[in-house]
Amino acid sequence: MNNHTNLQGKVAVVTGGGGVLCGEMARELGRQGVKVAVLSRKKEKADAVADDIVRDGGESIGVACDVLQLESIEEADREIRKYYEGYDILINGAGGNHPDAATSEEYFKKEHLQNDQVKTFFDLTEEGLKHVFDLNYIGTVLATQVFMKGMLKRESPVVINISSMSAPSPMTKVLSYSSAKAGIDNFTQWLAVHMAKENIRCNAIAPGFFLTSQNRSLLLDENGGYTERSRKIIGQTPMERFGNPDDLTGTLLWLTDHSMSGFVTGVTVPVDGGFMAYSGV
Ligand code: NAD
Repeated sequence: MNNHTNLQGKVAVVTGGGGVLCGEMARELGRQGVKVAVLSRKKEKADAVADDIVRDGGESIGVACDVLQLESIEEADREIRKYYEGYDILINGAGGNHPDAATSEEYFKKEHLQNDQVKTFFDLTEEGLKHVFDLNYIGTVLATQVFMKGMLKRESPVVINISSMSAPSPMTKVLSYSSAKAGIDNFTQWLAVHMAKENIRCNAIAPGFFLTSQNRSLLLDENGGYTERSRKIIGQTPMERFGNPDDLTGTLLWLTDHSMSGFVTGVTVPVDGGFMAYSGV
């Protein structure tokens, strides 16, 4: 349903737009009449989402963009500018975790040092740590530097970063991801202040736990039942379920529609079924 007429005709860039959560955000913006540049590391994934938007009657292009490579972001910017003069909305959605930046156990025990099967804090490599940190933090900052230049002439531009429940309180095992997402919350506040005089708003959405292709094997066993980790998550989520990608779209529309959130900047909005509010007792 198109009920945010203020968004009609605006232009959005969505990094990680070929993925599950930001693909859904891109499709929703398309439904609201926003022209969407869907960016993904692999062009086929970006094109698939752009095709969905066009099939639904919207306007969209798919563009390859690796947020870890400044030249690739600049190339994507040049490509999009062939179609659109500038941008009103930037969603920094590219991100994710990798086993190379995570321990295999929640708690360290000295006996783990004798067990080759256990990946301890001491086994984490600089390369693995940097990769995940750079993807989630540096990739967001670089993409913002490049695409924000295209926002400076627009009337009420907005940046939406994608945070995580791992930002306010780190999830066990996933070290770099948690540090980087905490950095995203901090960057969101920093940028909101830095850009306030130019009327550029900057906010973040912190999804709770959503079932996606990346985490499905961690959260569901081969029969589709909950794993030990997902039982813990659901036990800590007062609404007792995982999120669906369309749970994020209402918050997205509120934050992107200047007529509804024009005085909101520098916040991270949790969309988490109460996970963050619950002390566990
Ligand atoms: P996803 O894997 O479906 O989407 C991530 C996207 O980022 C993919 O399209 C991937 O190709 C892209 N990407 C990876 N490396 C890239 C690179 N170097 N350059 C450009 N793009 C790159 O996962 P998702 O769950 O939809 O995640 C979307 C965002 O939401 C991520 O930032 C993730 O950290 C965050 N998030 C997800 C959850 C969840 O429960 N799924 C929870 C909190 C936050």
